[in-house]
Amino acid sequence: MIPLDIEAVRGDFPILQKPLPKGLPLVYLDSGASAQKPQCVIDKEREVYENYYANAYRGVYRFGAIVDEELEGAREKVRQFIRAEHSDEIVFTSGCTMSLNLVASGWGKRNLKAGDEILINEMEHHANFVPWQQLAAQTGATCRFLPLTDDGRLEMARIGEVLSDKTKIVAVTGMSNMLGTLNPIDELAKKAHDAGAVIVVDGAQSVPHEHTDVVASGIDFLAFSGHKLYGPSGVGVLYGKRELLEQTAPILFGGHMIDRVYKDHSTWASSPAKFEAGTIQIAQAIALGAAIDYMGTLGMDKVQEHERNVLEYAYNRLQEIPGMRIYGPGVEHRGAITSFTIDGAHPEDLAQLLDRKGVFVRHGHHCTMPLHDLLGVSATVRASFGVYNSRDDVDALMDAIQFACQRLRLT
Ligand code: PMP
Repeated sequence: MIPLDIEAVRGDFPILQKPLPKGLPLVYLDSGASAQKPQCVIDKEREVYENYYANAYRGVYRFGAIVDEELEGAREKVRQFIRAEHSDEIVFTSGCTMSLNLVASGWGKRNLKAGDEILINEMEHHANFVPWQQLAAQTGATCRFLPLTDDGRLEMARIGEVLSDKTKIVAVTGMSNMLGTLNPIDELAKKAHDAGAVIVVDGAQSVPHEHTDVVASGIDFLAFSGHKLYGPSGVGVLYGKRELLEQTAPILFGGHMIDRVYKDHSTWASSPAKFEAGTIQIAQAIALGAAIDYMGTLGMDKVQEHERNVLEYAYNRLQEIPGMRIYGPGVEHRGAITSFTIDGAHPEDLAQLLDRKGVFVRHGHHCTMPLHDLLGVSATVRASFGVYNSRDDVDALMDAIQFACQRLRLT
């Protein structure tokens, strides 16, 4: 395979061409929080506003028709990207959080009762944790936890202890936003189905970095955000198998989602309209289609290979720092994320000192408080890589960490 032309890729992202004050180059290592946007995505959003903007699914005039066609085109691109069977299985939402809440409230409240169980685990982002906690509180169901191994993987050998015919939902992340762990989704889906449960996959981190095939993997619901996939903020996706979306109640009510409104009751449209009440994120959803085209042009195989290469380099080099603790598994089980602490350095101080060198990382609990509790740390520093990062960025991170350690008098 011809490797990714990283210089060409970097050239596609206008923000990377602009030096920071004092001429520092930008070293953006926070794609796990939100990715930068290529020119084609920015252009697409502009194109909508400058050329044919109108509300969606309402006007018969020509702009309305163009918007509808563009939106359905974007929906179709999402379908192909995650290899879903039908475009009515693709719902535009405001983001991954909204998508997961829609499953928990819309499907969960209808299908769970006291005595049922939801299988989660401690590596989940709060977006794939709190909605299940809430669902359990509202229905009388119980959350069970699949234990984690010492190196931050799901302890699959113990799944029999927590998965049974009481389990109605298995909710799991494709890739941990803190540990970087890649979870065995196909195996989990099979086990969930054997137990009679549905599997809900939080794809916020995995979809931008790994091939996704909802049918081959047996995924029932998949949630992800556009902004981590090099697309606009404000738009996300919920994929649900057709028959499961039919069983899912809408959680937002109003225009567009109805079939017929009477004075005393209403009936609903079918999916996806049923879940897209009001005016959706028109330009953002259309531009998400452009982001998907962009990833398709690069090729997910090449993206994966490139990011693995950068991750491996980062993982090995970071260990040169005295007092370095990297959380999570070895590179063979992780995507392009490294969270770490350095003995004697507060993560916030580290992140601030790295910023002085133009290296942007995130610090804190990364919306994974139960995981930080389990690891016995209150905060970590996270360097997450995207398609535009290279080994040079890792070298810059290393130089900046050495600068920070000197400032903190650790060396
Ligand atoms: N799940 C994971 C694993 C995430 O990393 C994030 C974003 N940090 C989310 C869910 C929530 O995504 P959003 O804030 O875009 O809804």
